Amino acid sequence: MLRIGLTGGIGSGKSTACAYFHELGVPIVDTDLIARELLEKGQPLLQTLCQHFGNDILNDSGYLDRAAMRQRVFSEPKGLAWLEELLHPRIREQVQQQLAQLNTLYVIIAIPLLVEKGWQREVDRVLVVDCDEQQQIMRATERDHGHPESIRNIMAHQANRQQRLAAADDILHNDGSQESLLVQVQRLHHTYLALSQSS
Ligand code: ADP
Repeated sequence: MLRIGLTGGIGSGKSTACAYFHELGVPIVDTDLIARELLEKGQPLLQTLCQHFGNDILNDSGYLDRAAMRQRVFSEPKGLAWLEELLHPRIREQVQQQLAQLNTLYVIIAIPLLVEKGWQREVDRVLVVDCDEQQQIMRATERDHGHPESIRNIMAHQANRQQRLAAADDILHNDGSQESLLVQVQRLHHTYLALSQSS
């Protein structure tokens, strides 16, 4: 089974591209979703997080308050490193478990921080969804009903466009319409099917 690691900056079109692959019947392993599930109410990892950052990171119903957590994580010098060290081995474990259950020619593993976290070694090919940084800001701001400034702040903590492109085996150019993205996904789908059958 060919493992395709799909990545891209915030607002670049990762989720949209994944939805197109999914429509073609390709299984998607989503590391963001895995991270969210690991921190659901009642999960042992959420307890560990509370022991470290305090119960203020929970809302009144006992669920993780992501905004409060982000604030705590960034207010502590090694907060982010601590959180990532806790989460990443578990995410990798879950990815392996999901992969083991699949019976498919190829799989898309969506990994927003693929480049930053060195996932290149754990996938067969890196697929980067790329678009202009201004477009990223515009699309993510509109989607999240947020502020361009907070999107810029997230981008500042991510790899930049050049670093990501340098790691790419394949690129989805998402500067145009969604239709154009779909056509590129369909083309790559055939490439990946051919590659998986020849390997
Ligand atoms: P990511 O998952 O990388 O953060 P999304 O796939 O959620 O990005 O895309 C960000 C926003 O931009 C979404 O609202 C999506 O519908 C929209 N979008 C994605 N690709 C395009 C495109 N080519 N043209 C216009 N809007 C797009």
